[in-house]
Amino acid sequence: MARHLITSAIPYINGIKHLGNLVGSQLPADLYARYLRARGHEVMFICATDEHGTPAELAAAKAGKPVAEYCAEMHEVQAELARGFRLSFDHFGRSSSPRNHALTQYFAQTLGEQGLIAEVAESQVFSIDDNRFLPDRYIEGTCPNCGYERARGDQCENCTKQLDPTDLVNPRSAISGSTRLEVRETKHLYLRQRSLKGEISAWIDSKTDWPVLTTSIARKWLNDGDGLQDRGITRDLQWGVPAQFEGAPWSGMEGKVFYVWFDAPIEYIGATAEWADATGQDDAAWQRWWRTDKGADDVTYTEFMGKDNVPFHTLSFPATIIGANRAGGAQWKLVDYIKSFNYLNYDGGQFSTSQGRGVFMDQALSILPADYWRWWLLSHAPEGADSEFTWENFQTSVNKDLADVLGNFVSRITKFCRGKFGETVPEGGTYGAQELALIEAVGAGLASYQASMDAMMVRRAAQDLRALWVLGNEYLQSAAPWTVFKTDPAQAAAQTRLSLNLVRLYAVLSEPFIPDAAAAMLEGMQTTNRDWPGESVAEALAALPAGHAFTTPEVLFRKIADEEREDWQKRFSGIRS
Ligand SMILES: [Zn+2]
Repeated sequence: MARHLITSAIPYINGIKHLGNLVGSQLPADLYARYLRARGHEVMFICATDEHGTPAELAAAKAGKPVAEYCAEMHEVQAELARGFRLSFDHFGRSSSPRNHALTQYFAQTLGEQGLIAEVAESQVFSIDDNRFLPDRYIEGTCPNCGYERARGDQCENCTKQLDPTDLVNPRSAISGSTRLEVRETKHLYLRQRSLKGEISAWIDSKTDWPVLTTSIARKWLNDGDGLQDRGITRDLQWGVPAQFEGAPWSGMEGKVFYVWFDAPIEYIGATAEWADATGQDDAAWQRWWRTDKGADDVTYTEFMGKDNVPFHTLSFPATIIGANRAGGAQWKLVDYIKSFNYLNYDGGQFSTSQGRGVFMDQALSILPADYWRWWLLSHAPEGADSEFTWENFQTSVNKDLADVLGNFVSRITKFCRGKFGETVPEGGTYGAQELALIEAVGAGLASYQASMDAMMVRRAAQDLRALWVLGNEYLQSAAPWTVFKTDPAQAAAQTRLSLNLVRLYAVLSEPFIPDAAAAMLEGMQTTNRDWPGESVAEALAALPAGHAFTTPEVLFRKIADEEREDWQKRFSGIRS
């Protein structure tokens, strides 16, 4: 079996993520990880919190907490929500970990020794009262173009004009409001991406199987305007990975840290090392996933992310890896496939973390179990284009797909069996034409489902799975064992036996989408047999033999009533307090 490394874009630390964030990376990555594990592959599924940078510092200050304490608490909040949504990470790490500090400095040093890091003198706005340099977006003032009074130093929100902080009229610090600002000289490290452009370009060109959404974004950044630019990798901040360290091939970088875009993707590696530490293993255990000189050459590495993260993952992080590999020592794994997503919109507008608009992960779990959300989000994933969450659509999807199709099938057949044969798989009878046709149709549906999952076509996989559930319902409807029972109990027993086996098979196939319901179905069938069907579907549909005891499961999915939907619609229409 193959080895698969899967990473989800790492969520930023300053707050709880909304459902749009979830469906753009973590959730589809989890779907794929669960599927590959079910198929018997060896999987390493990694995510983490992205903890460095100015927004974390500011959020901590707002919460009145030291930034390290704030990040530790918010990490635990996000980890708990990930567990709530059943995200099956092998490790959920922290970009502030000692492992990531060491790896980030290692990569910076190696790149520096290859001549791929430049020291650049810059003028930057310094706030005397805040005693710090201010990033562009933390300077506010009046827009010289439209007169809007709260324009940011990088862009005017009102007229969208791109700005430099020095363009602003009456500039002030967005942190303190202080106007005692001055321009000071400072020095920063730049990753010389331009000198790696040829290699990155050739590498992108070799990825003929990547989605156009991914490669078109990469090519735009490579070629548009002046093309790929060198990029600053340091910031004047306290909270982060120190840019001056023992062995660094530069000096004078005290008081600076690496810019969050540089250290965050390195945390994919860092978190895998954290996993080895947490499970009491040595370095070889994580290096065999990441270093092609240490056994990772047979690993297939897939990244999941929203489209806004594509430039970093197609250009900047690969520049780090390609540049470091030039040193000839450790050889690091480049990504094999990038699965990127468009945006999920919310009820006629956008989800917004800053404005608190939409449904957030904690709110979602407070009103309904994870499976309901997982099913809707994955079956409506913004793959080909942006998609939209509406409460009506959510209600319809849950009630029809989950309750009326899958839930109804499980409930109907188990209750029928209990009533006529008791809670054991009945014996007797043989399969007729209808049963054989069903087995064949399930085989064909399964092949389609697997093809969609292998290709990471999330929406199509959901449709395929739903079609498999529909087959069971249609079969029950037309075979009607409750009618057959009156004249031919043995035939009804055979039909029931097949249907109960279908419950087990549905549990196994549905587990990547709705893991809790799948577990409840297996528990009801009193089996731990989670084997994915092999060549013979007929064999898989004979896993529960006659005489096998089961318990009739509780209602798998409850329906969403109109009043509830209206209530939620109202409750989540405004801005989160
Ligand atoms: Zn303006």
